[in-house]
Amino acid sequence: MGKHFDVIVVGLGAMGSATCYHLGGRGAKVLGLERFDLPHAQGSSHGYSRHTKTAVYVDTPFEPFIGRSFELWRLLEGETGQQILVTTGYLRMANTGTWDHLQGKVRHEVLTADELAYRYPQFTLTSDYHGLYDPNGGLLRPELGIASHLIQAMRRGAEIHGRETVTGWKETGDCVEVETDRGRYCADQVVFCSGSWTAPLIADLGISLTVSRQPLAWVWPARNAACFDVGSLPIWQIPAPEPDGEYYGFPMMPDHPGFKLALHNYGETSDPDQLDRGVRPDDEEEVRACLRRYIPDADGPLTAMRICMYTSTKDYLPVLDRHPAYDRVTVGCGFSGGGFKFSCAFGEWMAETALGQPTTIDNEAFRFARLL
Ligand SMILES: Cc1cc2nc3c(=O)[nH]c(=O)nc-3n(C[C@H](O)[C@H](O)[C@H](O)COP(=O)(O)OP(=O)(O)OC[C@H]3O[C@@H](n4cnc5c(N)ncnc54)[C@H](O)[C@@H]3O)c2cc1C
Repeated sequence: MGKHFDVIVVGLGAMGSATCYHLGGRGAKVLGLERFDLPHAQGSSHGYSRHTKTAVYVDTPFEPFIGRSFELWRLLEGETGQQILVTTGYLRMANTGTWDHLQGKVRHEVLTADELAYRYPQFTLTSDYHGLYDPNGGLLRPELGIASHLIQAMRRGAEIHGRETVTGWKETGDCVEVETDRGRYCADQVVFCSGSWTAPLIADLGISLTVSRQPLAWVWPARNAACFDVGSLPIWQIPAPEPDGEYYGFPMMPDHPGFKLALHNYGETSDPDQLDRGVRPDDEEEVRACLRRYIPDADGPLTAMRICMYTSTKDYLPVLDRHPAYDRVTVGCGFSGGGFKFSCAFGEWMAETALGQPTTIDNEAFRFARLL
């Protein structure tokens, strides 16, 4: 048997990189294992930008985690000197519902159709639309967030291995043995942050996870490109008429050429190893429908497309818990289409749990038990 660690973290995407960072910060002897490069574009955390916002999480189980995540992203920025979170504001447009429940709970503005047209002429909306503006909203740069967490973890002594695949594991009396395509290790605790591959890795997970194929697109605006630059436009979201779902997008950033947008719904289900990463004509048409209808000035040439994966539980809430059958195993999975923004706070929870420390935030809503 190889070296002994306090904690082994399996999977170093959004959640695993944050977990290693918090473990390293607590002085633990950590090994992080990732089957691909650090970072990479095969899982759920690539594509140069992710939404973050606060208002939509008021009165939800995510509320304590969102506040903590803003603090932690800013701390990471302070340590690294990198801008990981770019505050742009968040604009949600809709022609149904109200935002009355937010009154007195969180800073926000409700915008009429006229106010929307005046402030955000990039969108073409009918007079029945109204808007919610959340000034805390912004975009996170996922590759930079993952790299920053890992670099800081390594600076604090964590051992991090890219291109090493975990092929098996077992709990023995006094440790967890983890086997990879390069060696064998043991640890007091293991944390699985293996994204879309969690179910194959933990055969007796006890819950089902659905993996779906999610295309992303970038276009160069046909007209008035400067109106789509960061500084001119918040991150945004608008209901998609059909199929059910929401279109969402980002202002243009120097990280990648083009105006990024996508359809948030639950796409074609797939095995993560069989995922069709090729781009199909329908994938582009999905976002063209949004551009034609709501953002005609941006309906210009395609600059890039990527395929990403959501991993979802049956209630679309994540699992953040100790494995019910194994004392030495902590699992974070099923983060669906909204997990990145919380990764720094979820990583803190997993590090604290693996080390047997009191947790900063309770995981009550995210336990296995609700799904078993
Ligand atoms: C298109 C799209 C848009 C999204 N938009 C947003 C958004 O705007 N805001 C937001 O907050 N969230 C968003 N999300 C969700 C968010 O990105 C995910 O919830 C989050 O990134 C999931 O992180 P993860 O660590 O669970 O998975 P991953 O980042 O995929 O990490 C899992 C890692 O485990 C590794 N691994 C698996 N098996 C093994 C093994 N056997 N050995 C070693 N390593 C292994 C994988 O290679 C991978 O690196 C979006 C997701 C997608 C797909």
